[in-house]
Amino acid sequence: MTLARWTRQLIPTLREVPQEAEIPSHQLMLRAGLIRKLSGGLYTFLPLGLRSLRKVEAIIREEMDRAGALEILMPALQPQEIWEESGRFEVLKHVMFKMNDRQNRAMVLGPTHEEVVTGLAANEIHSYRQLPCNFYQIQTKFRDEIRPRFGLMRAKEFIMKDAYSFDVSWEAADGSYQAMYDAYVRIFERCGLRTKIVEADTGAMGGSSSHEFMVLASAGEDGLVECSHCSYAANLERAELRAVAGVAWGDGEALPEKVATPDQRTIEEVAAFLKVPAARLIKTLVYLADGKPVAALVPGDREVNEIKLKKALGATELSLADDGVIESVTGAPVGFAGPVGLKLPLIADRLLEGSSDAVSGANEAGMHVRHVTLGRDAPGVSYADLIVAREGDGCPRCGEGSLVEKRGIEVGHVFKLGTKYSETLGAKYLDDGGKQHPAVMGCYGIGVTRTLQSVIEQSHDGNGIIWPLSIAPYAVEVMAVNETHEESVRLANELAEKISAAGFDVLVDDRDERPGVKFKDADLIGLPVRVSVGERSLAKGEVEVKVRATGETLGLPVATAAEELIEKLRGWM
Ligand code: ATP
Ligand code: MG
Repeated sequence: MTLARWTRQLIPTLREVPQEAEIPSHQLMLRAGLIRKLSGGLYTFLPLGLRSLRKVEAIIREEMDRAGALEILMPALQPQEIWEESGRFEVLKHVMFKMNDRQNRAMVLGPTHEEVVTGLAANEIHSYRQLPCNFYQIQTKFRDEIRPRFGLMRAKEFIMKDAYSFDVSWEAADGSYQAMYDAYVRIFERCGLRTKIVEADTGAMGGSSSHEFMVLASAGEDGLVECSHCSYAANLERAELRAVAGVAWGDGEALPEKVATPDQRTIEEVAAFLKVPAARLIKTLVYLADGKPVAALVPGDREVNEIKLKKALGATELSLADDGVIESVTGAPVGFAGPVGLKLPLIADRLLEGSSDAVSGANEAGMHVRHVTLGRDAPGVSYADLIVAREGDGCPRCGEGSLVEKRGIEVGHVFKLGTKYSETLGAKYLDDGGKQHPAVMGCYGIGVTRTLQSVIEQSHDGNGIIWPLSIAPYAVEVMAVNETHEESVRLANELAEKISAAGFDVLVDDRDERPGVKFKDADLIGLPVRVSVGERSLAKGEVEVKVRATGETLGLPVATAAEELIEKLRGWM
């Protein structure tokens, strides 16, 4: 195994916290000399960072191979026309880096590889005998992110492991999906990462089922909820909530009555003016679903989840209507829409089902209506789960717990894709009766560089990184406390040789620096074990060993130190 010397490496540790870095893992990657920035969202891996990256990749490769996936390597540079063929060019064109080759053919840098791999399968897979099969690669992706930030977390160029499975049927595809799911569980565990697996939306991908592997972190860009009682957990985009009966704000006898709200348009203004809670208002939003206006109704204190709304309407395109459309369909300026008398398809959240004596806009400038009992006053309304779940909502699964909100970083994602790509791109196989079918696909991504940084986000303290042994750049750092003390230096080298001969990567800090500097840097780069050889402990016949994760220090007898340490390290593997 590798035995490296600090003085022959490039480990440019920094004392100061770099200004550009907002979150601990990004700061530590810079401070520990793992990466350096080229420009926004573009980073160079320095030797220490690259070593850990390679270890993450090796774990992923082992688990993918174990799950039966086949490693391939596809081009990052792709003709634009394959994206036009799949219909995704329009959806993803703003995220893709685009250029022309010298023949003036339009090319893109791949943000993902469904198009390329499905084209490959279309050419190479013909018969059910070749299925199932699963291709994976560990490769660089390019995305022109709106906000690259947090170092490797959201970069313009990053490394992804992507895998794509092909099966004869949906049932068979479930098997491939489960195999990848299980492999992901093992991969993150082996990387020392605690992940929360959440149900996720299938988004622009299309498809039927999807899970995300999240690392809980306050800096996470994804919202999620988990149940306080059962194992239900979901991405906020997807999260359902338990249906509860609509609130009867009165006895429901009074008939709708207009009330002047001359200058009040927002929920907050109207609620304050009429002295009712925001929840008693019916928020009425006009959307265009595939070009046709529809009104979505939710309690005044809740937000519409547009993904849910789109699904409930069975729409492919959904957007908020602009002021002109709102005025023409409601007959009033923005801020006064309401369900009573509105000649639009109406869809309401289930929280409004059975509610009475609510308040809504009157479809008339400066007017609202009270005593609105939706079922009576807007009889055509249909109900669905339309709102963004939030802390305290009832769990949709167990009926006992309530939802707790968390932030997370998505490190991995498994999708059941279905036949969307195999149909459009012609990945078809012949069954045993000679009949042709599109293969049923799944796709599976891990952000490799993001995973690496997430480990640091989850595992550090005020002094630096705390590497898990599995992906630490080196397992052990060995140093002589005083480089001018010959016996210490000789013993340090001897220990380093023995430990590395036993199969562990060792870094010797051979710098002629003050002990304080070396100890500080050791904590900062965070190798699992530090062995220091100094005059004081040698006088007792010992060398000092410090375990980074626990801070525990122990003296090991000089004669047996290497063996004892090797034993300990083997126990941790
Ligand atoms: P996000 O929602 O974070 O933008 P995504 O859903 O677009 O991610 P996928 O297309 O599912 O991401 O990509 C698979 C994995 O690649 C993600 O789970 C994530 O770990 C990683 N990833 C995606 N975008 C980036 C990026 N800009 N920088 C680093 N890693 C990324
Ligand atoms: Mg995703």
